[in-house]
Amino acid sequence: MTFIDLRDRYGITQIVTEEDPGVGREWVIQVEGTVVERENKNAKMTTGEIEIKLDKLNILNKAQTPPFTIEELSDGGEDIRAKYRYLDLRRAPLQRALALRHRLAQEIRTYLDGQGFMEIETPYLIKSTPEGARDFVVPSRMNPGEFYALPQSPQTFKQLLMVAGYDRYFQIVRCFRDEDLRADRQPEFTQIDCEMSFVEQEDVLNTFEGMMRTMFKNALGVDIPNPLPRMCWYDAMDNYGSDKPDVRFDMKIHEISELVKGKGFGVFDGAEYIGAIAVKGCAEYTRKQLDELTEWVKRPQVGAKGLVYIKLGAEGIKSSVDKFYTPDELKKVAAAAGAGEGDLVLILCGAKRKTQTQLGVLRIEMGNRLGLRDPHNFAPLWVVDFPLLEWDDETQRFYAMHHPFTAPKPEHLDWFYSDKKEDLERVCANAYDFVLNGTELGGGSIRIHNADMQSRMFEVLGIGKEEAEYKFGFIINAFKFGAPPHGGLAFGFDRVCALFGGQETIRDYIAFPKNNMGRDVMI
Ligand code: ASP
Repeated sequence: MTFIDLRDRYGITQIVTEEDPGVGREWVIQVEGTVVERENKNAKMTTGEIEIKLDKLNILNKAQTPPFTIEELSDGGEDIRAKYRYLDLRRAPLQRALALRHRLAQEIRTYLDGQGFMEIETPYLIKSTPEGARDFVVPSRMNPGEFYALPQSPQTFKQLLMVAGYDRYFQIVRCFRDEDLRADRQPEFTQIDCEMSFVEQEDVLNTFEGMMRTMFKNALGVDIPNPLPRMCWYDAMDNYGSDKPDVRFDMKIHEISELVKGKGFGVFDGAEYIGAIAVKGCAEYTRKQLDELTEWVKRPQVGAKGLVYIKLGAEGIKSSVDKFYTPDELKKVAAAAGAGEGDLVLILCGAKRKTQTQLGVLRIEMGNRLGLRDPHNFAPLWVVDFPLLEWDDETQRFYAMHHPFTAPKPEHLDWFYSDKKEDLERVCANAYDFVLNGTELGGGSIRIHNADMQSRMFEVLGIGKEEAEYKFGFIINAFKFGAPPHGGLAFGFDRVCALFGGQETIRDYIAFPKNNMGRDVMI
């Protein structure tokens, strides 16, 4: 739809008065006339080549002055634009965002249909299934005091469809999770949810790599590598401090414990792990900049206790721990971190995984500061071989890293049936995440399809026999009736759309999103 500005040309200027300038109004009109070439062409306007010579103009509906100007970059402010979302949606960036979303949805359906997948709907009013978040609940009028839960995902239903013999299922489906909201989270969001029978991890990865490749090609004209790179979870954590590594830039994390321990610096001597990143070309960072960076890593969102640096500047090596190390020793550390002349080495220490994660956050921050994270440069990969379980110190129990329906790797079954914590911690799963530019766009796993193994999983998770029977009896039972081996995954569709559009926030890719208090202020 194109709005043609006819206000001051065809006799409707009389409505524009000083008190009521009518700026930005979008009247609904019907015109009859002839399209002619324009004398003064304006290449900047979509309609800049033509004029319409009017014979008749009919005003179908007048418009009030909108509360903000409807243009490419609006100055309206978040709140006011959210209140008038239907006006915001008229703006070109949002029209482009929703058009991209539509295009991607069509590409997904065409691709999966072509691969023999069937789109099957699953219910929204269900019994709670655990996926790690809190449920939204809906009271039942017919059963007072009882509640339905809204699905966090169709996980159990899609597995039941596999038992039922629908061996390639997909659905573009709404999911509901009562979690704290961020730029890339909404209480209700959309998944591309998929499941396949008689498959191994390789089949799932190939199928959905193909889907992503088609989407990139057909919606953006971008070719992604074939095959996609794969990274094992342990390498992702060790080298990038994240299970969703941004591989658009290098700046890997290096362990330097061996090099710096035992030289009298107590903080390092007492640490389980000491790691460093090399920031290219930042040796000239000033005292003030380094102090600011130190404060930055101490913020609760990062949680480091302090920051040690080595600068490889033109006038030689400088470090915050000069007292404990000779220039030669510092040089060795810098080299181990991958730094050369002109670079800055940033060092954190503490418990291993925690420190790696902090270094990972710092790495992303430095990547942002150095402009290394161009949103139109796409670096997708699979992260594979996740641990099956995650120990939680606070509650003193294991949690499923992905969800309780994920199968242990067959070669780790002895550990899975062991009672020792160290054994259980070592169990890996055929679980995988699709990662793009530092964001997890999707994830899935090969599932348990055997009733005894599923019961064992609940036992490992500290869910007693009775509770497991009460909560999950239906799926454990289903596995007793010839359940095929199966696996699948789900992509976060809103995130896929946002990243394809070169944005981090998903709100522009949802027609009617909620704000970070979970409210739709328009309604
Ligand atoms: N149901 C899972 C999720 O929402 C995805 C999957 O395992 O297929 O993360």
